[in-house]
Amino acid sequence: MRVPLLDLHGQMAPLRDEILAAVTEVIDSTQYILGPKVEQFEKNVAAYCGSRYGIGVASGTDALLAALMGLGIGPGDAVLTTPYSFFATMGCILRLGASPVFADIDPVTYNIDPERMTEALAQDAKGKKRIKAIIPVHLYGQCADMGRILALAKQYNLPVVEDAAQAIGAVYPMKSGGQTVWQRAGSMGEAGCFSFFPSKNLGGIGDGGLITCNDPELAERIRIIRVHGGAPKYHHGVVGGNFRIDPIQTVVLDIKLSRLPEWHRARRRNAATYRSLFAQTTLLENGAVSLPEAVYEAEGKAAGEGEDYHIYNQFVIRAKERDGLLHHLHSHDVGAEIYYPIPLHRQGCLAGLGYEDVSFPEAERASRETLALPIFPELTGEMQDFVVEKIAEFYRR
Ligand SMILES: *Cc1c(COP(=O)(O)O)cnc(C)c1O
Repeated sequence: MRVPLLDLHGQMAPLRDEILAAVTEVIDSTQYILGPKVEQFEKNVAAYCGSRYGIGVASGTDALLAALMGLGIGPGDAVLTTPYSFFATMGCILRLGASPVFADIDPVTYNIDPERMTEALAQDAKGKKRIKAIIPVHLYGQCADMGRILALAKQYNLPVVEDAAQAIGAVYPMKSGGQTVWQRAGSMGEAGCFSFFPSKNLGGIGDGGLITCNDPELAERIRIIRVHGGAPKYHHGVVGGNFRIDPIQTVVLDIKLSRLPEWHRARRRNAATYRSLFAQTTLLENGAVSLPEAVYEAEGKAAGEGEDYHIYNQFVIRAKERDGLLHHLHSHDVGAEIYYPIPLHRQGCLAGLGYEDVSFPEAERASRETLALPIFPELTGEMQDFVVEKIAEFYRR
């Protein structure tokens, strides 16, 4: 049996006619740049996320870049972020002439650890006070600890840009005045950045991204930055870029957005299936494998709240002899992947910039020990049986 890490055929097949009709309408309209279809999608995503504004851009990377530009991040500034994420999180900081300051991750959620952030911020406050913003990443589809992150941001008066590329729709239990309000990824900080890369839970037929925010002035600045900083057209008070999303993407994404809750449910069902399959083996007891934890789930269930505590963009396990297991799975046609094999502070583009001496042990350990298994919504129970059996087989050898 072949089990791919991701197979988009099953998602596209039932939507194909609807999508072709919507794309044809865009083609026939000749409105190929921005316009009402883009605006409709921006409104729909903002509403889904519980944010006031949505600004569609060409990718998740451009969302991060435009958000940081909108907040005025530039040369000499530093941005506090996680050392364990997709490269774009750090790349955008560096592209603006700013530099990343890292705080290690929590080993359970793989998200930035507020304890380590507290230390980094205290150290920065004693020194040059270069940190001008914070980028938490909601990795694999589960929110970072935003309550504590926002408290730190408030204490140091820093804006928070949520990298929600992997977490559209994921909820977080925000405590305020003795009450818990379940808030969606991207609606809690100054800005939220989303990606519609095809492998994300909401994926287009190409690249796409979006920024959510609640401040009308920031939204307006980002809108202007999206079109070269021209406002009015041909009058450039600031330097922006061409960060636009195409309507041909937004009509596809709008159709898929309506299916997103059911796909999230299917991913969670697959996660539950993995849990029960692994529980039938000795792999958890003997410590060969440990499974991802949905840390807000119990609280959410107790409160009878929504259900998107974890949207499982990836189902990431820790495994003994990880590289051997990966090879074993690949040799049996099971898709699995390492996200991410090299932590950000060890990337070559930082060579000579003073990151050689720093160490983030949990990020480094995650890079050595973790492995993503197939979790896409259309994955079958048979496929999951096969995946878990192949993993068990590796440790029986
Ligand atoms: C996918 C992703 C991005 C970048 O999105 P693109 O649309 O590929 O540019 C940024 N951050 C994280 C955490 C991602 O997973």
